Amino acid sequence: MSEKIANIKDELAFKRKNVYHSLTDDQKGEMEIFSEKYKSFLDKSKTERESVKNAVNLAEENGFKKYNFGDELVAGGKYYYSNRGKSIFLFVIGFKDLEEGINISIAHIDSPKLDLKQHPLYDAGNMAFFKTHYYGGIKKYQWTAIPLAIHGKIVKSDLSEVEICIGEDESDPVFYINDLLPHLAKDLHSQSLGEGISGERLNVLIGSEPFSPEGEIKLNILKILNEKYGIKEFDFVSSELSAVPAFKSRDIGFDRSLIGGYGHDDRVCAFPALMSIIEAESPENTLMVVLADKEETGSGGSTGMQSNVFSDLIYEISDAFKSNPRKVIANSKCLSADVNACFDPNFSEVYEGLNSCYLNEGVVMTKYTGSRGKSGTSDASAEFVGYVRKLFDDNGVVWQTGELGKVDQGGGGTVAIFVANKNIDVVDLGVPVISMHSPYEIISKADLYMTYKAFKAFNK
Ligand code: MN
Ligand code: MN
Repeated sequence: MSEKIANIKDELAFKRKNVYHSLTDDQKGEMEIFSEKYKSFLDKSKTERESVKNAVNLAEENGFKKYNFGDELVAGGKYYYSNRGKSIFLFVIGFKDLEEGINISIAHIDSPKLDLKQHPLYDAGNMAFFKTHYYGGIKKYQWTAIPLAIHGKIVKSDLSEVEICIGEDESDPVFYINDLLPHLAKDLHSQSLGEGISGERLNVLIGSEPFSPEGEIKLNILKILNEKYGIKEFDFVSSELSAVPAFKSRDIGFDRSLIGGYGHDDRVCAFPALMSIIEAESPENTLMVVLADKEETGSGGSTGMQSNVFSDLIYEISDAFKSNPRKVIANSKCLSADVNACFDPNFSEVYEGLNSCYLNEGVVMTKYTGSRGKSGTSDASAEFVGYVRKLFDDNGVVWQTGELGKVDQGGGGTVAIFVANKNIDVVDLGVPVISMHSPYEIISKADLYMTYKAFKAFNK
């Protein structure tokens, strides 16, 4: 190629960027520190409740005050609103006129898991089990034959509460879902991956010793639960307990460039968004970071993003500064912080290479999600994508675009549509994930770091 053609190509053609090609030594150091902080947040935030608790702790340590509807608000003030301990809104009041809008970032802190049913306990074949109902989109066979922990809360008949987290400490027992040995799997092998392990087979093994000396195994489990947590069998009806993978996050690869962990979707976006508002110094714009619940089941319910609590809070903030809430909403901007499917050469047939997001190419902006003919997406406008593009380019953020797989291959959605429906410009932004929704997902440290930089740029 002649030098002239090379120059023209350089100027006109799009070139993919790898984060490592421009990463300085200082940035690499910062990236490692941020990755360690993230891993520690991830390991202690396996449920939405635990994520909120840890977000509250971080917020309070950094001068955020608990807010309730009707409380006084002042410019420069930092607040958080915990919605039933399962979703959280953090906001910092800027010095600019509120009617210029709020910079909103929304990630979700619920992940696929196995919820215990209301009557979970039974025994069969000299084993005791908990019955589960899976939460979110999972490939069920992936949840067998791995160590599980049980997290959650039980509300007893006198309304006293017991928090449960067992299977995370090295000295704790863990739990397990049985799988069939290959020797007897002739019929199972001929079934499809989706059929082989059914929802009703996701029963968690919790013990085998009979009540001394010849009673039921189930009774022995009840005795242990009563001694340890002070609960009776019927107390499960008012509980929220989930089995989650007992794995801790770990660096992956000889070069330690990747992180394996449970629940990257979407804590890998929640954590950078959270840190960006916690670290914001007297911002001009009013900033809001929402860590939402129920995204994996469609964002319904009082703690999901379809709940009125989101606009109620904006109305409250507007009232406090005698601003017109409809103007505040119309001028607000939102980054819907969620992950996308990273191109995987092992399954290249489901991706369209030109428009997929790739590992280590930075934070991914997803203009639209949905399925079939873009059904169920908000599809960000050219203007808003242009705004975000310039923001990132001006702030040294390495970013890429991504579409969730080939056209008509499947699809998915995020909270973006519910935000857009309220009259707020929004685009999806987050980290490419490998093996999404599996018990152990993979992300790259470089993409995590660029996502943090992206939220820092937005929340200045
Ligand atoms: Mn998801
Ligand atoms: Mn997600």
